[in-house]
Amino acid sequence: MAETDPCQEEREEMVEFQILARGVRNPRVLAAMRKIPRHLFVPKGYERAAYEDRPLPIGEGQTISQPYIVAVMTEQLDLAPQDRVLEVGTGSGYQAALLAELAGTVISVERLEDLADRAQKNLARAGVAGVRVIVGDGTEGYPPGAPYDAIIVTAASPTVPEPLIDQLAEGGRLVAPIGPRDCQDLIKLVKHEGQVEKIPLGGVCFVPLIGQFGWRGEGSP
Ligand code: SAM
Repeated sequence: MAETDPCQEEREEMVEFQILARGVRNPRVLAAMRKIPRHLFVPKGYERAAYEDRPLPIGEGQTISQPYIVAVMTEQLDLAPQDRVLEVGTGSGYQAALLAELAGTVISVERLEDLADRAQKNLARAGVAGVRVIVGDGTEGYPPGAPYDAIIVTAASPTVPEPLIDQLAEGGRLVAPIGPRDCQDLIKLVKHEGQVEKIPLGGVCFVPLIGQFGWRGEGSP
């Protein structure tokens, strides 16, 4: 991590006014969001907007999610320091950096090679070690790393991809936006004795998850 961080104050304000004020309370999540330099995960020219209360474009028609939504999803994963986590949709690498702060093993799958490359550079620049970025179709999960204590899907699909449920450990938590193309319901699944309990978390709008167990292509229904 850089020793002189010009954005520490902006991060403090982001946490206080966008995240704590809206009810996220997990102290480990709040500490991670105070620590990870979000401005290093946005494209050149967007650094000044990095701590604003909105998603930002990261190229290839994709986005880095709004800080509050990142915080809610991360809190709902209930991460412990030794947990194994799968992220589907690496994007900028920002969410993966937070996961690496909170869990033991982080594997992140990204469909677009250019974004995966950029995410790896962003992670290195931010001094975050311990995230394994894989290029591939994350709707299939990543079987070599399974089972996972937590799975976070940061793109939206019509239903929860079945392989992800299969790769969830007993007691594991999965958080994903599920529903139509434009806006969706954020849901949490918890696996108990092979069965999944579903907990709705509210409305969100995410870019589509494109793959074998998600949306089938840019223009498909
Ligand atoms: N978590 C990211 C971050 O912190 O910047 C934001 C993710 S962005 C909202 C959604 C990402 O999901 C995009 O980078 C997109 O390319 C990726 N994606 C879409 N379908 C995918 C798939 N089947 N497998 C892996 N990644 C996918």
